[in-house]
Amino acid sequence: MEKADITIIGAGVIGLAVAAQLARSDRSVFILEKNQAFGGGISSRNSEVIHAGIYYPEGSLKAGLCVTANPMLYEIAVRNGIPHQKIGKLIVATNSGEIDEIEKLHENGRNNGVESLSLITKRQIAQLEPYVQAEAALYSPDTGIISAHDLMTYFLRQAQNNKAHLVCRTEVLRVEMETDGWRIFAANDKGESFDFFSALVINAAGLSSDIIANQACGRYHLHYCKGDYCGISGVKPGLVKRLIYPAPVKNHAGLGVHLTLDLNGRLKLGPDATYIDRIHDYNVAQEKAALFYEQARKYLPFLEPGNVHPDMAGIRPKLQGPNDAFADFVIRQDAPGFINLVGIESPGLTASPAIARLVKKML
Ligand SMILES: Cc1cc2nc3c(=O)[nH]c(=O)nc-3n(C[C@H](O)[C@H](O)[C@H](O)COP(=O)(O)OP(=O)(O)OC[C@H]3O[C@@H](n4cnc5c(N)ncnc54)[C@H](O)[C@@H]3O)c2cc1C
Repeated sequence: MEKADITIIGAGVIGLAVAAQLARSDRSVFILEKNQAFGGGISSRNSEVIHAGIYYPEGSLKAGLCVTANPMLYEIAVRNGIPHQKIGKLIVATNSGEIDEIEKLHENGRNNGVESLSLITKRQIAQLEPYVQAEAALYSPDTGIISAHDLMTYFLRQAQNNKAHLVCRTEVLRVEMETDGWRIFAANDKGESFDFFSALVINAAGLSSDIIANQACGRYHLHYCKGDYCGISGVKPGLVKRLIYPAPVKNHAGLGVHLTLDLNGRLKLGPDATYIDRIHDYNVAQEKAALFYEQARKYLPFLEPGNVHPDMAGIRPKLQGPNDAFADFVIRQDAPGFINLVGIESPGLTASPAIARLVKKML
């Protein structure tokens, strides 16, 4: 390859969604991925929740793109047989202080355009989720779960049907500006290096997107924030049917340890949020089981300590450090023909089709 029309760096859900939007049979579109297969980064280590758009500040990209993408994602899933379930979610208040918090969230969600939210009483909670303990809850029927891998496979097929090429085991090492485009320096896993010209570049490199951006154009610094999960075993299947989140805690980097379900009905607690200096492993410490149990038993009284055990982890690419104010997604053309997608943490999976549409519009 000597020349490309468009090069997308990173084959996670964002790079693949963008590829699906931009691929056209009369264009050469290449997706470069350093791993041996697509989707092995953040996109395979998350809760797979289709968010409704409740938490993010009004007017932010996170809010707007999430609210836009929520129905798009269900439509894509239904039309293309992507496993998903619109199971709904409860954000629960276990005391009066927390009721204030969920009322604020209700207002925030409605300001963001999430019309389907409602505040429900203790009695209504008991009808929906008899095993959940709460005084009141914010009910979001439009929240659901989806197979992230099948969604990525769908985006990849769409892109490939329009002649896009996925090139795995190939790491982008450097990008330099040239007249009318960019020179990309890459190497494959056999140690062979090569370079080529690309008229347009989309940086969708997830946890490395700041490094790529800083080499080419833009100035960003990502903070890594690890989210651990604990699995739940030994409870009766089907005990809880919806996603259950605690009321938000001020200045917390995540949404609080919550109960998620996967498409097989398996229950999981997490993710929590711990800033780390570098990415060394995805292990979950044994102590997390007791910590998560303590946090979750307030609203899941049926849990016993022995039900909770360390499971998987993911790492968020955050533009805000500990105690910093909210930071939005960066989706920006920082130089002609170079679009940076940096800080695409949650709700990035949900927002992916809307992010891709925005990138197309920017070009
Ligand atoms: C714990 C956790 C829970 C989450 N839960 C949810 C949720 O429930 N719902 C939701 O909507 N969102 C959720 N998210 C957010 C969502 O997972 C991300 O926004 C999304 O997966 C980001 O996708 P991406 O394509 O940007 O990154 P990635 O999936 O990481 O893709 C980037 C790709 O770029 C490749 N790459 C990096 N550098 C290079 C290079 N130099 N050359 C070539 N390739 C390179 C990587 O190998 C990787 O495959 C969660 C995130 C975390 C961490």
